[in-house]
Amino acid sequence: FCGQHHVTRLWFKSNPNAEAEYLKSVAKITDALIAHRGQNKHLRNKIIFTIPVVFHILHEDGPENISDAQILDQMRILNRDYQKLNADTINVAPSFKNNIAVVGFEFVLATIDPNGKCTNGIMRYYDQNTNWDANKIDNFTYTWPQDKYLNIYIVKKINIAPAYTYLPGTPIPAKADVIVCESIYTGSIGTATFDSRAITHEVGHWFGLPHTWGITNAPGVACGDDFVSDTPITKGFVNCTQNSKICNPTIEENFQNYMDYTPCKHMFTNGQ
Ligand code: ZN
Ligand code: CA
Repeated sequence: FCGQHHVTRLWFKSNPNAEAEYLKSVAKITDALIAHRGQNKHLRNKIIFTIPVVFHILHEDGPENISDAQILDQMRILNRDYQKLNADTINVAPSFKNNIAVVGFEFVLATIDPNGKCTNGIMRYYDQNTNWDANKIDNFTYTWPQDKYLNIYIVKKINIAPAYTYLPGTPIPAKADVIVCESIYTGSIGTATFDSRAITHEVGHWFGLPHTWGITNAPGVACGDDFVSDTPITKGFVNCTQNSKICNPTIEENFQNYMDYTPCKHMFTNGQ
């Protein structure tokens, strides 16, 4: 499971105006989505945005100091999933087969650092915060300008979840506008034990997508809306299923969505 909801609630608790501000920005995004409903077809099959990415690896000289190869493999997965190059779309349920998005994002490791110097986009730091406390918001010391880079912190262990981030519009300090992910959920080689979609999911949040069931963090509880018109109302799933018609007996739900919690995540919809 991801920790987006946990860290967000925590931030709201300690910052009285944060939730109201956040809801205002969600309303803005929702209005924009409704205004552009059905106009998203031009995004297909084109690279629209190139996203510079920097990895900050925090380590204590252990296996959490993952190789450049494992980071490159994670970049491959990110581009594969956001450009619909993943072979497992073949398993997508019939109702959604014709609505798998080519998102049009291309992710590249940063080649220039904030000081204009050359970089390979992979930074390494000996830092005890590799045992990461997600309840602290002042330990994002390495973040490069978050309006120019997608910052991904790789750590050994997070105390609440394998990975998390904040939704845009959550009024957090700029330095916290990053993704944090455990090293074993990064890529599919080296210390990763399977083809992890953790960062695919977190990047979805980072760009504004809630879970398919909405902004609570509890799948399987209540039928909810994510403000996206072509993802059916859902409670969300933790297991892959033959029968996804839970909230409405006639409508299949998109349990294979990257923003759900199943181990069979294969797609974004065009609406997303
Ligand atoms: Zn999530
Ligand atoms: Ca929806």
